[in-house]
Amino acid sequence: MGVDAVVVGSGPNGLAAAITLARAGRSVRVLEAADVAGGGARTAELTRPGYLHDVCSAIHPLAAASPFFRELDLAARGLALVHPQAPVAHPLDGGRAGVLERSLRATCERLGRDGRAWRWLVGRPAGRFDRVVPDVLGPALHRPRDPLGLAGLGLRSAPSALLAARLFRSDEAKALFAGSAAHAFLPLNRPATATFGVLLSAAGHAAGWPVVRGGSGELIAAMERLLESLGGTIECGHQVTSMSELPPARAILFDTNPGQLNAIARDELPAGYRRALARYRHGPGAFKLDYALSEPIPWTNPDCRRAGTVHVGGTIGEIAAAEAGVWRGQHPATPFVLVGQQSLADPTRTPDDGHTLWAYTHVPHGSQRDMSEAIERQIERFAPGFRDTIVERHVAGPSWYAAYNPNAVGGDITGGSHGGLQLVRRPTLLHPHRTPNPRLFLCSASTPPGGGVHGMCGYHAAHAALAGVLG
Ligand SMILES: Cc1cc2nc3c(=O)[nH]c(=O)nc-3n(C[C@H](O)[C@H](O)[C@H](O)COP(=O)(O)OP(=O)(O)OC[C@H]3O[C@@H](n4cnc5c(N)ncnc54)[C@H](O)[C@@H]3O)c2cc1C
Repeated sequence: MGVDAVVVGSGPNGLAAAITLARAGRSVRVLEAADVAGGGARTAELTRPGYLHDVCSAIHPLAAASPFFRELDLAARGLALVHPQAPVAHPLDGGRAGVLERSLRATCERLGRDGRAWRWLVGRPAGRFDRVVPDVLGPALHRPRDPLGLAGLGLRSAPSALLAARLFRSDEAKALFAGSAAHAFLPLNRPATATFGVLLSAAGHAAGWPVVRGGSGELIAAMERLLESLGGTIECGHQVTSMSELPPARAILFDTNPGQLNAIARDELPAGYRRALARYRHGPGAFKLDYALSEPIPWTNPDCRRAGTVHVGGTIGEIAAAEAGVWRGQHPATPFVLVGQQSLADPTRTPDDGHTLWAYTHVPHGSQRDMSEAIERQIERFAPGFRDTIVERHVAGPSWYAAYNPNAVGGDITGGSHGGLQLVRRPTLLHPHRTPNPRLFLCSASTPPGGGVHGMCGYHAAHAALAGVLG
């Protein structure tokens, strides 16, 4: 039976697109390759029965800040975001640590002589976060709602993370900023890498870095319930490879990468646009370990024991060297590791007194190297005795992720490199969610505003469809 819209892929953006269309009264059918909906926001018992692991996304400052999610009452559909005592900690040798508290004042007090600079670089954007976020996560070209706030953010975000961090004098403040900036998957000397440090740190103060009670998959479950209540349907186990497989529809939205759009819809797209899709670049990959632990990580610094996320990688110099090496195709001996301790804030993650741990590092695109030893050495460096707490581990490198999700080419988990022009040209500069074919739209993280669980790519693509063929 025909529908108004088919969405190919049920990641956070595919479901956001489907919900936005269904809320506008359009009939929607979602086709998903995997057996379970959710793309990069699924939860699974990767280690032991009853141990709930976030297979991909775990930490949700972007979901908490997203204008799309704020429009929905997902709490009524069972979603609960839980906040750790502190969003982020960053251990350094000698038992020191930089700590991002929810409270800006507490963070600045801890940073001492760097408190003033933190207040200027991060605190000001945090202060007008709710006004400026709709602009930051808005469509590629739009009239800003808060031009002053956006200009202030632009001033702080334009430099490289390394340059911006020169505002600070202490190792703690520099490292705390660099850890968030390194979420960019880019060398920290690249222009505009400060954006990630400023925005993610500001989000920590303004919205928090929560986890989802029961696992990120519960966010998807709440979205599914909402979509179904609006009449939308999801069909899992259907990997779309050609347009002929799709039911009749007025619009088709692809929660896929540009390469898949190119392959699936090749006969319905002009050659020039197909060349732009073929030029699209994927970035470095992720190598991830999930653990069942007998007890929480024994961090030397006590503040790391109350943080939801711990950035492990030492000083800003070490992190910059590691990220630059990955970009050059090298595997750092002392990698930058993003650690999530979800079970501290969410005891429902395990059926007993045990704990879960989520830890990944950046590796070159398509890497085959096992980084387990290097990751564990880094954690052990700041938490002697960590290895003794390990009960079980699950290993997932780039090829595991590429098999898990066809969007994750070479283990790229961000929907495509954020490097160079691709920060904004995803995959085209003008009207990135539309294609030259008025029926076809791209709604994945390969469009602005890019990677992360915020749903805004899907939301914008759905609005582009509503303004066009579904109007
Ligand atoms: C290890 C890891 C850690 C991460 N950590 C975080 C984090 O802490 N916080 C955060 O905000 N983000 C995080 N992310 C990123 C986040 O998961 C993604 O940016 C987000 O899921 C992108 O959503 P999406 O809907 O665009 O695509 P995806 O989530 O990739 O979903 C796409 C869906 O489409 C399906 N699909 C693809 N091709 C086809 C096809 N041809 N036919 C049918 N179905 C198809 C896929 O199976 C998939 O279900 C992480 C990702 C990974 C892998």
